[in-house]
This record gives sequence, C-alpha cells and structure tokens, in this order.
Amino acid sequence: MKDIQPDWPAGLKKTKQRECVLAVLEHARKPLSAMEIYSEIKRDGTSVWLSTVYRILELLVKRGMAVKIAVMNSETALYELNRFQHKHYAVCMNCHKIIQMDNCPMEKFLPKFQDDDFQVIGHNLEIYGFCKDCAH
Ligand SMILES: [Zn+2]
Ligand SMILES: [Zn+2]
Repeated sequence: MKDIQPDWPAGLKKTKQRECVLAVLEHARKPLSAMEIYSEIKRDGTSVWLSTVYRILELLVKRGMAVKIAVMNSETALYELNRFQHKHYAVCMNCHKIIQMDNCPMEKFLPKFQDDDFQVIGHNLEIYGFCKDCAH
C-alpha cells in the first residue's frame, strides 16, 4: 500500500511512522479516526503507539497536510489528507455517519473583518442533522 506518496513538506523530518500515517490517509476513501489509522498501520506490520499517531496527526494538521474534522456529539475527530479541494461534511447526530457535501456556501460569500488586512486561508463549517436512516 505504499505505492503513492504525497509530496513530503520541506523541513519535516521523515520517519517511518509519519510516512505510514500519511500513506493511510492517502489511500483512505473517507475521513478516518486516529484509532482507525492506528489499526491500519498495525495491520501493515509497523509498530506504533496510538499516542504517536495522535501526535503525528496534529503535526500534519499544523503543517496543512491533513484536515481535522470535528464530529458533533462525539469525542472522536476524523482526519483526512488535505487534497486542497474544498470539502465539507454533514454529520448525522444519531449514527455519526459522515455525508460529504458537494458545494460550499462560502464560495460566494465575502466576509467583512474589522482588520482590513486579515487574510483568509480557510474555514470550517459544522453541519449536523439526521441522515435518511435516522430521520424518522
Ligand atoms: Zn444516521
Ligand atoms: Zn467551504
């Protein structure tokens, strides 16, 4: 599973474990929790601590390589690779299913700030409700 590797950022030390976390994110088809990433790495035969996975994920988020998605009503944050294509998710408050949103309401929205020079580099949006299985 290590065929595709995203570009490694300058200044970030390459370690086996960091590469593994990144490789898992690269191959994921949906946002994953730290626990899921951890199990995936273990299954691949690399020894790693869950706390290390958390640390690496926080580092990748700080470096802009991964995106952290907070899930309503859940302690569990999900992570995905920052593919620089804008994405939002809605979360079902009952079963915690994540549903991808196809558009962004911020696209045509020009925020006004008290600080005129504020440079926007991104935004978060929390959308929650009930999925079709739970909306009865
Ligand atoms: Zn649901
Ligand atoms: Zn957006």
